[in-house]
Amino acid sequence: MNESSDTPQSDTGDQSRRFLFEHADIRGETVQLDEAYREILAIHQYPGGVRRLLGEFLAAAVLLSSNLKFEGKLILQVRSEGQLPLLMVECDDTLQVRGIARGAEQATSDNFDLLLHNGQLAVTIDPIRGQRYQGIVPLLQGSLARSLDYYFEHSEQLKTRIWLAADGGRASGLLLQQLPAQLTQDDAQRREQWDHVCALATTVKGAELLTVPCENLVHRLYHEDPVRLFEPTGVRFQCSCSRVRTRNALSTLGAPEILELLDEQGSITMECEFCNQGYRFERSDLADVLEGDSGKTLH
Ligand SMILES: [Zn+2]
Repeated sequence: MNESSDTPQSDTGDQSRRFLFEHADIRGETVQLDEAYREILAIHQYPGGVRRLLGEFLAAAVLLSSNLKFEGKLILQVRSEGQLPLLMVECDDTLQVRGIARGAEQATSDNFDLLLHNGQLAVTIDPIRGQRYQGIVPLLQGSLARSLDYYFEHSEQLKTRIWLAADGGRASGLLLQQLPAQLTQDDAQRREQWDHVCALATTVKGAELLTVPCENLVHRLYHEDPVRLFEPTGVRFQCSCSRVRTRNALSTLGAPEILELLDEQGSITMECEFCNQGYRFERSDLADVLEGDSGKTLH
C-alpha cells in the first residue's frame, strides 16, 4: 500500500479553519464547503443565481458562527421585495448547516440587488440557554460580504471583514477580526496592522477562494507574517428537524383545523422544507392535541 502524504485529509471537503497572527491581535477564519453545499442544493431546484447566493450565505453563517461561545446557532435570514423573497441559513456551534431559499422559482437574475431588492438581513444568535439576540442590516451594499462588513461596522466593537465566493459547486469564505488589545497596545500600530492584513486579503480573487485549500491560501496571503494555523473543523449538512418539533408546529394549528385535515386526508403529512423529510401523523398520534384543544374550542 502506498499512502500518499501529498493530499492530507485536512485539505479536502467541508471545513472551517482558524488562524491567528503571532504579532498582531487579529484572528482569521476560512471556510470551504462542497459536499454540504451540494447536498443542500440537491433538495430543491434553484436557479443559478440563487444557488450561488445560497452558497455565500452558508459560508458566511459558518464564518460568523466561529464567534459563538456557547451551544446554540447563528441564523442569517433575508426578506426582500426582489426575485428572491426569502433566504435563510443556519449554522450551529458544532458547524452543522442547513439552508433554504423560498419563492425562488421566478428568480432569473444573477444580480444581487435584483434578487434581494430592498432586502433586510437579520443576523440572529440563538443560544440553547439564554437570550436570543438579533441585529438587522439593510442589504444596500451590492453583496452579502459588503453588507456584513457594514453590519459589523455599525454593531460590533471589534473590526471585522468578510470575503465570500460561491459557484454552485463550492462555497468559500474568509473572515478577519481584530481582537482586544493584548500584543499591541498602540492604537496607530493596531490600525496599521489591521489595514495591512485587510489589504492583502482584498487581493484574493473569488476563484482563488474557491479552489485554493485553506492552508495554502493563508500561506499565499500572509507568508511574510507569522501566522499560527489551527486544525480544521468539519462542517456538515444536518437538519435539526424532528418528529416532536414537527408535531409541536402542527399542534399550533388548533384542533378544528387539524380535524378538518384528518377528515379530508385520513392522516397529515408534514414535510420539512430544509431537508424534505416527511412526517406522517395519524389521528391516534394527535389524540391528546385534539382533546386538549377541544375543551377550548367549546367555550
Ligand atoms: Zn429537516
